[in-house]
Amino acid sequence: MIAVVPRQSRRKLGVLVILLLLLAVVGSVSYVGWRQSVSGPVVVNAPPRLVGHKATFPITIEARRGHVLGVEIAVVQGGRSTVVAKADGPLGRRAEIPVTIEAAAQKLREGEATLEVRAPDDFWRPLRLDPRAAATFPLTLDLTPPKVEVLSATQYVSNGGVALVAFRVDGATAIEVAVGPAVFPSFPMGPPERGARVALVPLPWDMPATAPAAVRARDDAGNVASRGIPFEMKPRRFPRDVINVTDAFLQAKVPELLPQHPPAAPLIDGFLVVNRDQRKQAEEEKRRIGAKTADKPLWEGAFVQPRNTKVFANFAETRTYLYQGREIDTQVHFGYDLASTKQAPAPAANKGVVVFTGPLTIYGNTVVVDHGLGLQTLYAHMSSIDVKVGDQVAKGQELGRTGTTGLAIGDHLHYETLVHGISVTPVEWWDAKWIRDRINLPLKTAGLGEIAGLEPSAAAPGDEGSGPTRRRRR
Ligand SMILES: [Zn+2]
Repeated sequence: MIAVVPRQSRRKLGVLVILLLLLAVVGSVSYVGWRQSVSGPVVVNAPPRLVGHKATFPITIEARRGHVLGVEIAVVQGGRSTVVAKADGPLGRRAEIPVTIEAAAQKLREGEATLEVRAPDDFWRPLRLDPRAAATFPLTLDLTPPKVEVLSATQYVSNGGVALVAFRVDGATAIEVAVGPAVFPSFPMGPPERGARVALVPLPWDMPATAPAAVRARDDAGNVASRGIPFEMKPRRFPRDVINVTDAFLQAKVPELLPQHPPAAPLIDGFLVVNRDQRKQAEEEKRRIGAKTADKPLWEGAFVQPRNTKVFANFAETRTYLYQGREIDTQVHFGYDLASTKQAPAPAANKGVVVFTGPLTIYGNTVVVDHGLGLQTLYAHMSSIDVKVGDQVAKGQELGRTGTTGLAIGDHLHYETLVHGISVTPVEWWDAKWIRDRINLPLKTAGLGEIAGLEPSAAAPGDEGSGPTRRRRR
């Protein structure tokens, strides 16, 4: 049998075949076109715009399709191309390449340049992609370090004390004053065009005499400059004391300071939590409060010690705690304990602004007065507080009344001098001569004015270098 296909149907079949062929051609062409249109690998993170003598940064490359075959990164400057990073593939879909630019070693010079990233992939395209560049980025090489000049500094310093450094910095965006591992802020002073700054530097009580001190400056390109501060360290020694912890004291204080302490647990365990953890918390809070400071001196003349007070504990006294004859803890006492009558007025030691009021763990009810440049005074164990945060206070103004709140044995004022939240001895600041020699003199030498109220004739008799009354009880 022969099947007879009608003429009309044969024509239809022909059209269908042509259509199918056309579709195949169009499909192939668009598939090939799509393959060609897929772009090469892209850089997904922007490199730094500005680099200094040495810069290290990653460049992350991602293939749109296929895999990154290899990466070559070069700095092009004045027509010369210097390869600064290279990785041979295949590297996968995404690759992170560490780049190190070292201007001297790579013979790069200061000025404009281009960072070229070349990264081919293994994705098939009918026509090869331009293998040269996945991306280019403008780059500026800044090889000029900031300038730092120390104008003056306190000559003789002691651990547990304070120093002043005046300096000038040019071309820096980050400036710090470093003593050992600690860094402290500085404040602009004098005419802005001069670029002079000052810093009060606290020297911790346990700072080794060999700890280096320096002004460090860094610019946006990462260039750094550092100048040593020529302090002459005269080591200072501090007393030791023994504190007998009694059950009566534990019964009075642990429930107040550690209300969450389980009633069945020994009170001495609660005391150790208070004496260690709460003391540490208070230190951290003091650092935070220390950052809330005026950028200029608010104080005038010497600081005043409350009238008719006896000193019965000193700054940086190392205290060994005994309980039932057993040594249970060792801590350092950071203030002066000043006692007179119960609920005696606690006067502001100098002019300033109240920056903290309220309970502060072992310190009980506490007031902190800011005197500017990071210098603050702290008043603890208060029974009442008469000032609030933001109040401007005069020298001698009553801040509240002394008491026994916090870890206090009897009614007294625990008084601290702080610089950037670090406790220092109050003795220096009670002494007008010390302020004149160690703070005013370097300020004047640098041509940055002086602290008001320090003229020998202008000083009140009580301000004149007599220092605190030192009569130890116990
Ligand atoms: Zn105290």
